[in-house]
Amino acid sequence: MVEIIAVPALADNYVWMIHDPASGETAAVDPSVDQGVLDAAAARGWTIGQVLNTHWHPDHVGGNRGIKAATGCTITAPAAEAKRIAGVDRGVAEGDRVTACGLDAIVWEIPAHTAGHIAYYFEAAGMIFVGDTLFAMGCGRLFEGTPEQMFANMQRLATLPEDVKVYCGHEYTLANARWAVTVEPDNQVLAERLGEVEQMRSDGLVTLPTSIGQERATNPFMRARDVAHFAELRAAKDSFG
Ligand code: ZN
Ligand code: FE
Repeated sequence: MVEIIAVPALADNYVWMIHDPASGETAAVDPSVDQGVLDAAAARGWTIGQVLNTHWHPDHVGGNRGIKAATGCTITAPAAEAKRIAGVDRGVAEGDRVTACGLDAIVWEIPAHTAGHIAYYFEAAGMIFVGDTLFAMGCGRLFEGTPEQMFANMQRLATLPEDVKVYCGHEYTLANARWAVTVEPDNQVLAERLGEVEQMRSDGLVTLPTSIGQERATNPFMRARDVAHFAELRAAKDSFG
């Protein structure tokens, strides 16, 4: 079994670190910064051998150069965005296989937040790293894509088994929950989840990972009926504040 920890970075990013005690391998997903991530690894006696990036935004790749300089790690990133990402060794696209910490992942292209955004789906391990595409009770803003694309991403993610753990790029859960209850005021599961998340945040806890089952039950974007409904929700969320 691998160990997975969240390293908080910048305002509300999480850098996910995966560690395999058997092989000693460590991977960092979307390192926002170098020093904080290197320190978090060193504190555990881990050395980062691999970086996986989901998209080119600086809060997801800002640590690439420094981590590579310090460790000589290999960096995997979306091929379509490799020119905008520092230190890429391998550009990957839909269907490519990636191995990290002894686990196999398949690459999904899930464009819309950025045009080349990808996810790493570790099918056998039951986990997916989705960057800024799916959040707990939310989804990423459409900076480089369309509602059609993001709706398709939500539908595709919803086909995964319920117990698949979803590792998101930001701690947006509480703000998303507060918005989601205004959209689905009769959703009891959502109302309960808001209460749980409020408690977790006041206790200073990380609310992630979420799961596909939880998102199917409580995420308005994943529950959108069609593209028009999705687009309406995305626009409403953008102006919710
Ligand atoms: Zn982003
Ligand atoms: Fe981000």
